[in-house]
Amino acid sequence: MENCIFCRIIAGEIPSATIYEDEDFKVILDISPAAKGHALILPKQHYANLYELPEELCGKVMKLAKRLAAHMTEKLSCDGFNLVQNNGEVAGQTVFHFHLHLIPRYKDGDNRDLLTWNQLSYQDGETDQLVGLLRL
Ligand code: 5GP
Ligand code: ZN
Repeated sequence: MENCIFCRIIAGEIPSATIYEDEDFKVILDISPAAKGHALILPKQHYANLYELPEELCGKVMKLAKRLAAHMTEKLSCDGFNLVQNNGEVAGQTVFHFHLHLIPRYKDGDNRDLLTWNQLSYQDGETDQLVGLLRL
């Protein structure tokens, strides 16, 4: 994956501000942060997105996110925390190597509307249709 910027960061070809590393993951500060301390969990192996990420790593990534959320909240004294994970261009993904955003939130910070969207509503019967379609 020589053209993948995150693979190149993981290989050490491009410098990054690394706050954690183990055999499966590297965690770096985002270069254009939504808030101070915004970090990215990167699996060391290249998987384009959540669809490709093996289940075993899904479990590990969430455990690591919980650990880092607690640690970063303590160290940064932030007031809240978002986990964000984009899959596909239409969903806002710009780097096609799976990553989980760890975004500290501050009461007096910018980007208060970081994750807001227009709220739609369902017509009669639509909810039932969706439940019929989606129930697993
Ligand atoms: P996405 O939009 O794909 O969910 O997020 C990609 C993120 O990667 C963006 O927040 C962007 O700022 C970050 N990013 C892109 N290139 C680099 C880089 O070279 N180094 C670091 N540390 N972050 C990057
Ligand atoms: Zn990659």
